[in-house]
Parts: sequence; C-alpha cells; structure tokens
Amino acid sequence: MTNNSLEDQIVKAISSVVGDAPVSLHEPLFIGNEWNYLKDCLDSTYVSSVGTYVDKFEEALKNCTGAKYAIAVVNGTSALQMSLQLAGVSFDCEVLVPALSFVATANAVTYAGGIPHFVECEESTLGIDADRLMNYLADISVVEGGQCINRSTGRVIKSVVPMHTFGHPVNMKGLMNVAKTHKLSIVEDAAESLGSAYAGRHTGTIGLLGILSFNGNKTITTGGGGAILTNDSELASLAKHLTTTAKINHDWEFSHDRVGYNFRLPNINAALGCAQLEQLPKFIEAKRSLFAQYKRAFAGVDQLRLVAEPENSYSNYWLQTLLLSESVENRRDDILSETNRRGIQTRPSWNLLHTLKPYKDCPRMDLPVAESLQRRIINIPSSSQLAGGLVD
Ligand SMILES: *Cc1c(COP(=O)(O)O)cnc(C)c1O
Repeated sequence: MTNNSLEDQIVKAISSVVGDAPVSLHEPLFIGNEWNYLKDCLDSTYVSSVGTYVDKFEEALKNCTGAKYAIAVVNGTSALQMSLQLAGVSFDCEVLVPALSFVATANAVTYAGGIPHFVECEESTLGIDADRLMNYLADISVVEGGQCINRSTGRVIKSVVPMHTFGHPVNMKGLMNVAKTHKLSIVEDAAESLGSAYAGRHTGTIGLLGILSFNGNKTITTGGGGAILTNDSELASLAKHLTTTAKINHDWEFSHDRVGYNFRLPNINAALGCAQLEQLPKFIEAKRSLFAQYKRAFAGVDQLRLVAEPENSYSNYWLQTLLLSESVENRRDDILSETNRRGIQTRPSWNLLHTLKPYKDCPRMDLPVAESLQRRIINIPSSSQLAGGLVD
C-alpha cells in the first residue's frame, strides 16, 4: 500500500480529528444528573412501571420537540408498531418504507400485520425520494373510496414512513404532498433524529404520529427506550392506554377493555432519560462541531464527500457519513477493513431491506439510487465527546 492511498488519507483525516485509536462509532456519555436521578429512583424503590420519572420524561420530550403529546415506551420499534396501528395499519395493508433503513422500520410494519413496500431514496437527504414516489404511485395505484389501492396486489396502501437517515431530515414537504394526493397517513421514523428539525419543526412531529429511539447507540439513551409523538389528543390517549395493557383506571380492580401491550418504559430508564435530555443541546452542539472538524480534515480528499444537512433543515448529525464517489465505490471494503484494523470503528450502511430474507418478496420500486448509496456509505466515529470541549 502506498503512503497516500485512499485508505491512508481517510485514516489520517479521521485521526486528525478524533485522536488516538481505539475509537468507536458511537458511545453514550453520562456527565450530567444520571447518577443523581438513578440513585433517587433506586432509593424510592419505584424502578418499574410506576413512578414520577416517566411523567417527567414525557413532559421534557414535549418541551424539547414541541409535540403536544409524548408517550414513553420500551423501545423505538414498539413505538413504531403502535404508531402504525394507530395510523390504521392492519392485516394485509401495504406501508411505504424506504429501502435504505434499519430492519426495525420494516419489522414494525410486519408486527402491525402490514406488508412493507420498499421505495426509492435520494442522494441529497438519503431518505425517500418524494418526486419519484409521486410518479410511481400515479403509475401503480388508484384512489378509490378515499383509499389508495395497489392495482397489482389489490391491497390498500395505508401509510408512508419517512425516515430521517443518520439524523438528516427527509423532504417532508414533498412527502406531505404525496400523502395528501394518495390518501396516505404519515408515520415518521425519527428514531435517529432527536433534535433535528425540518422547516423549523422537530422531526417526528410533522406527520400524524412520529417515533424516537433512546437505544444505547442513539444521540441520547435510556438504556433501551422509545417514544411516540403526536399532536392528536385522541391518538395520544389511545397510545398511552394501549401501551400500558389497556387497563381501566381503578383503585384496585384489574379490568382491560382492549388487547393492550406491555410497552411502557420503566421508571428507572425514564430517570436516565431525564438526565440525558437535559444535555441534548450540548450533545448536538458537539456533534455539529465534529462535522465541521471532519469537513476541514477531509477538504483535500476528493474521492468522497461528507454528508451535510439538507436544505431547509437542521440536523443532529447523529452518525457522520462519508459518501464515496462512484469511481471508488469498489474500495469501500478495503477502507472498512483498514480503518477497523487500525482501531477506528467504521461501518457500511444497512443491507437494503428488500434484500433481506424475510422481505425479499415484498413489493418495491426500482431502487438504483438506494443501491448506489448502499455501496458508497461509510459511517465514521460520531460520539459527542469526540468533538472536544465536553469532557477532558
Ligand atoms: C434505532 C432505530 C429504530 C429502532 O429503535 P430501537 O429503540 O432500537 O427499537 C428504528 N428505526 C431506525 C431507523 C433506527 O435507527
């Protein structure tokens, strides 16, 4: 290998920003009230399904996102399953899902009884391409009795799930237009985009419902956790009811009026979430600064670009992303092995959902852009603490 191979240039650029290896892709950071709130929670003995931190966490989430209602649940996947069910997805409905996403997006559709229908992404946002989707639906579907029907499968296409990839907001204006024209409900998968906004509105609060994830690798963590966001009061109370076993309020009696779920977030996880959320502004400031530092470090490397926030949006820069030029896409695996060999954790994007065994027979668009993006994306170390300034 020569001294200025692409692999070496990339290792050099990353190292100049993050310092000595080993360095991981994304690590949580606990430098606020985490120990205080967790101790308080343990001292109270309310560590499980009852306690004050769940209410506090939901209140803090509303303040932070501007959503009228926030319902804390066990993880982002359950939040998405519940939201899809509340948006009307049931047995045999199709749901439009970006081909480039984490498997949970498709799994949640399946849990709700639906069938994922994979759609094309665009290079500028890495999310669903609204213009292509509009044309595609005009080709393959008809609106009948206020519902969008897939003419080849005969099934109802109920919803679309915009996902804000690596924290970058997708073109919501275009997708709202598609949803309106084709009578679809919008459920936003904002699992990766806590703190990101599109046209001044927090991601996850623009559609009928939206979801967040607080898994260990996300911008803030509750250990495991998620939330449902909505501005609709009826959907919000149903979401709370159904995710807490559909128990009718009563001092001592156990009565349940629906088949509910035990999806509630334990108090101890919510305590961690309260402490983490207090630090979100400084985490995002750090992640945005890390992007600026990488941008300078990669200025001389011209066979790739760093993915930047799209127009009209504000990104939390959850995962920093290199997008290789097509001419060097065949170098991706060498870059991945060389960086990982040298202790710099890097990752390719997810395998496209329509290529996964459980989803290979699902309906889909032609996906040349998603396929190309998948061959060219490399995520590089992205933790807040790598920006410097947060911790010594
Ligand atoms: C993390 C993630 C989820 C799922 O969240 P969990 O809390 O891990 O269940 C869903 N969708 C996307 C795009 C994600 O990145």
